[in-house]
Amino acid sequence: MADVNGASDSKSAALLPLVCRLCGEERAPALTSICSNCLGPLEVDYRSRTLHPTRQQIESRPHSLWRYREFLPLVGEPTLSLDVGFTPLVEAPRLARRLGIHRLWIKNEGVSNPSLSFKDRVVATAINAAAALGVKTIGCASTGNLANAVAAQAARAGLDAWIFIPADLELAKVVGTAVYGSRLVRVRGTYDDVNRLCAQLADEYDWGLVNVNLRSYYGEGSKTMAHEIAEQLGWRLPTAVVAPMAGGSLVSKLKTGFTELIRAGLVEGELPRLYGTQAAGCAPICNLVESGADEIRPVIPRTIARSLAIGNPADGLFAAAAMRDTRGWTAQVTDQALVNGIRLLAETTGIFTETAGGVTVAGAAALVSAGRIGPRDEVVLCITGNGLKTIEALEGALADSPVVAPKLAEVERLVAQIRRSDFSTAASVVSTSLSE
Ligand SMILES: *Cc1c(COP(=O)(O)O)cnc(C)c1O
Ligand SMILES: [Zn+2]
Repeated sequence: MADVNGASDSKSAALLPLVCRLCGEERAPALTSICSNCLGPLEVDYRSRTLHPTRQQIESRPHSLWRYREFLPLVGEPTLSLDVGFTPLVEAPRLARRLGIHRLWIKNEGVSNPSLSFKDRVVATAINAAAALGVKTIGCASTGNLANAVAAQAARAGLDAWIFIPADLELAKVVGTAVYGSRLVRVRGTYDDVNRLCAQLADEYDWGLVNVNLRSYYGEGSKTMAHEIAEQLGWRLPTAVVAPMAGGSLVSKLKTGFTELIRAGLVEGELPRLYGTQAAGCAPICNLVESGADEIRPVIPRTIARSLAIGNPADGLFAAAAMRDTRGWTAQVTDQALVNGIRLLAETTGIFTETAGGVTVAGAAALVSAGRIGPRDEVVLCITGNGLKTIEALEGALADSPVVAPKLAEVERLVAQIRRSDFSTAASVVSTSLSE
């Protein structure tokens, strides 16, 4: 028996084979995500899976993403990262009222185990695929959260990790990777430069780079967010789901996840409308949807939403198709709006999200204003990461907190002042700020 984190010496599962999304060429499980015939993307081939689980079977299993194992690419039991997934889905009536939505839930991936973002899901499937392929060193190209998740999950599995990020990421994303003892390399360049470098490294070394040569298995983890949303709503589908986009994988896999639940007879009704959000300073997928074009036009990212700053998104076309097919749409928001989104979520739900979550909240507000999401909708917001990872975003945005001597008179003076004016005026009397 493996412990909850798995142990590197336990026997690993096997993998389902791969099939090309474009030309249909089949191939055995391998460290590649590109078709050797047409260079199209390989995806997991589930055609040999004919048995679907029942609701009762799923409900009887431990609270992790592995309760949906029939929809995941392992054959046999996973051996690593057994505790990932099953994050809270919490109803948010105060935020719903502020946004003008009938009912609203937050899927809170900011408390994901072990690294506080939804990237724990994709690493959970990828690291088991790596083990199945006998890979001893894993790694990734990352905008921050994936780096955290790979480093944490490699550490407890006893695997080596090589992790590549843009050199200038937020401090918490750097520290929250380096602490696990992985080989962290900071690259002078954008994420797109880092990604190109990692494609070359995948040809050179026998590493399993989770979002490069293990990408076909990696993406499958995202589907479980859709599975959980449906189960946690009591085996029902919401009418709309809003999620942030970087490479576009999450939004495209949400559609797959909801679709397979309907096909398996586990839920009834129509697919939720899928809405993808980006920061205006890096919105190549939004631009594609809004313009009706059929090719991504890469951009140079200029936004504080670093976790979403991918200028040339690998799954952009698939994400756009998922939004189109479900009659959803997209929203791009300014950096100022995303900061307001972070604050609004915190003040109405008690959930502190990172920049990507701010983009989602602000994007949802924009979609309501535009009439795309209506008052009768039942909406789920995918809040994909934790606010403590990007506190830089709030620099200068919050009221100063007063500093006082431990004397009753000083607090009495503050309270009296605040009763007369507003808190921030009082605070500026004896001030401190986030930057100090
Ligand atoms: C990576 C990431 C996303 C988007 O992921 P894609 O699947 O690449 O679109 C969203 N939110 C956060 C916090 C992320 O780290
Ligand atoms: Zn092909």
